[in-house]
Amino acid sequence: MCSLSAVYYDENAAKDLLSLANSGTNRGDESIGFGVRVKDNDEWKYIVTKAMRKDGGISAAYNDMIVALGETEVSMGIAQTRYSTRGKSDKEHAQPFRANVKHDIIVGHNGTLANSRELAKAYRLDCITESDTEVLALLISDSDSVKKGAKKLVKEAKGSYNFTVLDDSNILTAFRDPMGFHPLWYGSGEKGEFYVASESSAFDSLGCSNVTEMKPGEMIQVSENGIEKSYFGGRKISKCVFEPFYFEKPWSKEEIQGNYNFVEDIRYKIGILQGKKEDVFSENGITVPVLDSGAFYAKGFAETTGMPYREAIKKNMGSRIYMDPDIRDPQGLKLSRKEKVNLKHVVIPERVIGKDVYVIDDSIVRSDTSSKITENLRKAKAKKVHWRIAFPMIKYGCIYGLDHSVKKDLIGARLELEEKIAEEINADSVKFLKVEDMPQIFGDINNYCFACASGIYPTPVPKECISAIEL
Ligand code: AMP
Repeated sequence: MCSLSAVYYDENAAKDLLSLANSGTNRGDESIGFGVRVKDNDEWKYIVTKAMRKDGGISAAYNDMIVALGETEVSMGIAQTRYSTRGKSDKEHAQPFRANVKHDIIVGHNGTLANSRELAKAYRLDCITESDTEVLALLISDSDSVKKGAKKLVKEAKGSYNFTVLDDSNILTAFRDPMGFHPLWYGSGEKGEFYVASESSAFDSLGCSNVTEMKPGEMIQVSENGIEKSYFGGRKISKCVFEPFYFEKPWSKEEIQGNYNFVEDIRYKIGILQGKKEDVFSENGITVPVLDSGAFYAKGFAETTGMPYREAIKKNMGSRIYMDPDIRDPQGLKLSRKEKVNLKHVVIPERVIGKDVYVIDDSIVRSDTSSKITENLRKAKAKKVHWRIAFPMIKYGCIYGLDHSVKKDLIGARLELEEKIAEEINADSVKFLKVEDMPQIFGDINNYCFACASGIYPTPVPKECISAIEL
């Protein structure tokens, strides 16, 4: 997962880009990059600066940009924060990408082009990296215009490909792919500046008006001629349901059946639903969220079951373990995922001793988090450990941008039954909400992608992604 941001015609473009990019780091922050187009002595030039989190992240990339700009003011630009799903986690694969085939462009991408190798071959693209974003950038740069590039993608790409582009005709383009897997928003500033960001919450600190979600298939192009919108429709809308469950900030907004809701309210309602499905109530029970991701579900669950909400697990360490690139890169592996979970989560013994603990989290993927926390709760002398998981059991790999793309890594795919998962993580019970429960929250779920839970993929699964569906 990643975040995109963009600004157009803004005296403060660099600072506003920084603010938008900074607010996108919940979606990925292993690298951060800026691409800006500036006029320097009547000459247009591009500047791209990128930095890995371990090398200083957002402030390093921003500082490099400011140094590179010198006296030149930047008036438009894009930014990207990355959580790699395809291609290595290094500076070469960090975004934005610059490509210059027919046109010199800078591209930021959120999503995964599942058939990127197929596309690279079909269009004879000269890729240097393993990145699907490079394929996207080369394909657009090799087209007569960004619009024509998008047309090719809409026809032939399988996967998710929200993108922003700065091109050499001084146009900023933002595009949400026609299946609408991941969100993309725009808004205007007080002086008519145009902003783009992946989530609605990114605009909060910029004093924006008209904050609006882009429609699936919508392209917005901004230039000195104004704003032009075009649409590439005709595909089944398949919004990634994991976005509101986990990725989006609690105070971002998510559309359900035509109404916009705060994500935290959706999570709270899911917690209520989870509580209603509980048939045994323990007098001795407490509801314990796994840090921030479990908090709103836990509030709903606690209120419905009457088992009080207790923050008995606290955060010792800043970042999201799941997203740690070291863990996916064997070269970088110093601590295992479980060891990192152990460093991050701390159980407060006084709050759990002798209690039936109902631990609430958004999801179980590989089970490193749940097994380590169960072990620590038992060490702290909890009487029982029950897991209640908001997201349905994940049994299939995601090919549209989430970092659970390999079926054999998923505990749900290996064990399939709640009882077996409970046994493996040494819990007294584990229960997941079911895909069948979801209409109670999302109404018509046909507009959502539940592929990782249901195995029903809204596009064909390309050969290069076979590990998503085969054990
Ligand atoms: P696991 O330890 O593998 O079972 O992963 C589950 C934990 O990681 C949960 O606490 C989630 O909040 C978080 N998580 C689940 N899926 C993802 C994902 N695709 N990216 C980042 N974090 C995730």
